[in-house]
Amino acid sequence: MRKHLDDYRQYAGDQVVDEIYDSASTLDGKHVVHVNSTYSGGGVAELLDTLVMLMNDVGLDTGWRILHGTPDFFEITKKFHNTLQGAEINLTNQKKRIYEGINERFSNYTHLYHDCVIVHDPQPLSMIQFYEKKQPWIWRLHIDISNLNQDGEKLFNYFKSFIVRYDAMIVSMDSYKKDIPVDQRVMRPSIDPLSPKNEVLSDQVIDRYLSKFGVDQDKPIICQVSRFDYFKDPEGVVKIFKKVREEIDCRLVLVGSMATDDPESEAIYKHMVKEYGDDPDIEIISALNHILVNALQRRSSVVLQKSLREGFALTVSEALWKGTPVVGSNVGGIPAQIIEGETGFLLDPLDYDGFADRVKMILGDDALSERLGEAGKEHVRNNFLVTRHLKDYFHLFREVIR
Ligand code: UDP
Repeated sequence: MRKHLDDYRQYAGDQVVDEIYDSASTLDGKHVVHVNSTYSGGGVAELLDTLVMLMNDVGLDTGWRILHGTPDFFEITKKFHNTLQGAEINLTNQKKRIYEGINERFSNYTHLYHDCVIVHDPQPLSMIQFYEKKQPWIWRLHIDISNLNQDGEKLFNYFKSFIVRYDAMIVSMDSYKKDIPVDQRVMRPSIDPLSPKNEVLSDQVIDRYLSKFGVDQDKPIICQVSRFDYFKDPEGVVKIFKKVREEIDCRLVLVGSMATDDPESEAIYKHMVKEYGDDPDIEIISALNHILVNALQRRSSVVLQKSLREGFALTVSEALWKGTPVVGSNVGGIPAQIIEGETGFLLDPLDYDGFADRVKMILGDDALSERLGEAGKEHVRNNFLVTRHLKDYFHLFREVIR
C-alpha cells in the first residue's frame, strides 16, 4: 500500500508538510538508499518501513537494501549489540572475519550508484570498505553508546576504523556522541500515526484482536511490547507486575516478536513461558502482529518500558500517542519521551518498588491517567511523528548531496 505525505497534514499540520515538499523539490532526480539488516521485528525496520515510502512519495527516489546474513553472522552482530549495551565479548579475529566477510559478500551483489548511502547500525557498517566511495555515506546508529564498558570501548575502537570513512554519523541522543573525527548529528526516531501499528482502531477491532490472542479484559491490563531481549528486562516486568498485583487485581501481557537479525529472542521467549506461562494473570505472546500491538497499547491501563539499556524505545512514543500512560526506565532515549510526572513516570531501572508504586498510582486515579495520556499524545505530536523525522532527513540530504 502506498503512503502519501498529504495524508499526514491532519496530524502534523500544514507547515511541516509544506516544508518537506519544499526541501524535496530541491532534490529532484536524486537517488538515495538505506541499508539495514532486517525488514521486520525491531525499531529500525519499523522506521524504514514508513520513511522509505514517504521519501518516494515526495519524489526522492529511495531504495532499501537488506543485508543477507548467516546464523553465525547474526550471532556475532547480536553480541556486538549486547556489548555496546554493557555485555562482554571476546573480540577474536575469527569473529571479525565472519563479520567483514558477510559484508564483503553483500557488497559484491549490492550495486550502489545512489547520490547518498545511509547505513543503519553495526551489521552493515563495515561494507563501506568494499566500495569505491563516490557519494556521501552516512552511518546511523540506533544504539545507546554513552556508557561503554572496557569491551564496549574495544569494540567501538574496531568500529572506528569503518566509521571514519563515513561523511557523518547520526545518533538518537546528544549523549551518544563520541570523541571521534567524524561529523556527528542527532536525529530522533519517530512513529507513523497512519501505520497499522498506530492508526485509530474501533472498539470492535480492539476486542476482536485481544480475544483472538487470548487476552482477557476482565481486569486492568499492564503490558510491555518489546523484542524478547535481556536488555528489555521481561523478568523485571514480571517482578513489578507481581508487586502491583499484591494490591490491585490486574493482568500482565508481554508481547514480543522475533526479529530476523536477533537469534537470542526465541530462547528468552521460551524461558519466559517456562517460568511464568502457568500464571493465569500473565499472557506471553510471541507474534508479529501490528494490530495486536496497537490494540494492546490502546486498551492497556499502563504500558511499561522497563529496559536496562535502550537506544530510543519507539514503543514509548507508540503508547503515548494512544493516550496510554507509560512508566519507563530512565535510560537511553526514554527520558526524551517521558517527561517525569507530565507525560508519564521515569524510574531507575532497578527501582522495582518505585515502578510498582507509579503503576498503582495510575491504576487508582483516572484523572491522573487521563492527564498523563493527553500530555503524552501532544508531546509525541510535537516531537516524534514521522513528518518531523522526514524534515530532518531532507535537511541533511540538502546539505550533503551535491
Ligand atoms: N514490535 C512489534 N511487535 C513486537 C515487539 C516489538 O511490532 O512483538 C515493534 C514495536 O512496536 C516497535 C519496534 O518493534 O515499533 C521496537 O522498537 P524499539 O525502538 O522500541 O526497540 P528495538 O527493538 O529497536 O530495540
